[in-house]
Amino acid sequence: MTATRVLVLNSGSSSVKYQLLDMRKGGRLASGLVERIGERTSRLRHTPLAAGGDTREWTGPIADHGAALKAVAEELARDGLGLDSPELAAIGHRVVHGGKLFTEPTVVDDTVLAEIERLIPVAPLHNPANLTGIRTARALRPDLPQVAVFDTAFHTTMPEAAARYAIDVETADAHRVRRYGFHGTSHAYVSRATAKLLGRTPEEVNVIVLHLGNGASASAVEGGRCVDTSMGLTPLEGLVMGTRSGDVDPAVIFHLARVGGMSIDEIDTLLNKKSGLVGLCGDNDMREIRRRIDEGDVRAKLAFDIYIHRLKKYIGAYYAVLGRVDAVAFTAGVGENAAEVRAAAVAGLETLGLAVDGGLNAVRGDEPRLISPAGARVAVAVVPTDEELEIATQTYALVGRN
Ligand code: AMP
Repeated sequence: MTATRVLVLNSGSSSVKYQLLDMRKGGRLASGLVERIGERTSRLRHTPLAAGGDTREWTGPIADHGAALKAVAEELARDGLGLDSPELAAIGHRVVHGGKLFTEPTVVDDTVLAEIERLIPVAPLHNPANLTGIRTARALRPDLPQVAVFDTAFHTTMPEAAARYAIDVETADAHRVRRYGFHGTSHAYVSRATAKLLGRTPEEVNVIVLHLGNGASASAVEGGRCVDTSMGLTPLEGLVMGTRSGDVDPAVIFHLARVGGMSIDEIDTLLNKKSGLVGLCGDNDMREIRRRIDEGDVRAKLAFDIYIHRLKKYIGAYYAVLGRVDAVAFTAGVGENAAEVRAAAVAGLETLGLAVDGGLNAVRGDEPRLISPAGARVAVAVVPTDEELEIATQTYALVGRN
């Protein structure tokens, strides 16, 4: 029997998201989420997509990632999709930080694990959880290829001019300080899907991808290769996000420490968790912000305006970086759903060839679609992202040629 299934695992510090896909037949067989791992009220939600069954939910103590993956395996087995099946070709893992070294999806061995571990200082929140997920899956199926798919990989094509900060080179290199970028799996998938929507190959088009979710990043993709992206050493740089500030003058940190008496950890928490939309107006959900604006809420309006201002600056910057832009693609929770954000982000940019058609922009849907007026010089598109499919595709391409 040919193995055609791939299990995709996205392991967070206290959660595991998963999807089981069949790569030859196409389509998703199951998906789910384990949350609050390590607490007494852990929760597992499992949807047997292939069987067309209802979502099953279970609450109770799940001690660690090992127990979580066992619980997932049991749920899959109930649908006849057990992890011991010979049809399972590989497990694909999302790994947030792959540094400069990992430019491609990589089959995990002890050396790869050691290198992901070495990158923990630059990704202290994510890489330890990703590692735990890989180790747990490996223990469960030691015979199966485990593939690491890195959020940073797509951005390793950035030229040094974009990837380096203008700080002392020796100091930067000693501590691996450079711009790595994140959300790469999404930027790769969306830039290719945008080319397809235009009926062209990725090599033929230049695309600005705007991944606007709770985390948000922009990228400039030239002929299928990333040449700049808005996140840097960590996912804090760049656009205004749900809870992250994005760009600030680095001296804000010195000032808050020296004058505000805050510790480095307090400032870290401030900029990563208490800033962005939530810091500006108390809400990080764009739906709630729009509702408040409709009621005349001034703080919500200011938060929206700051968000749009930053977004517009990046569109302009990446237009200049690329020189010629064929398409601007909006994706992720805000990008796919918030028509007002899309309209506001390109408002006034008609001289750059950018505009949205009000009617097309208002249409909702799950498929990639154009929202620019017919005959526009630059296509503006909504392209739903699918990071799980991209991880599965890359994983299967690496191991599935049997
Ligand atoms: P993501 O991180 O891609 O899952 O995006 C999550 C964010 O998408 C939420 O915090 C909301 O701000 C936003 N979002 C989701 N659905 C909608 C919607 N229908 N309209 C506006 N924003 C939305």
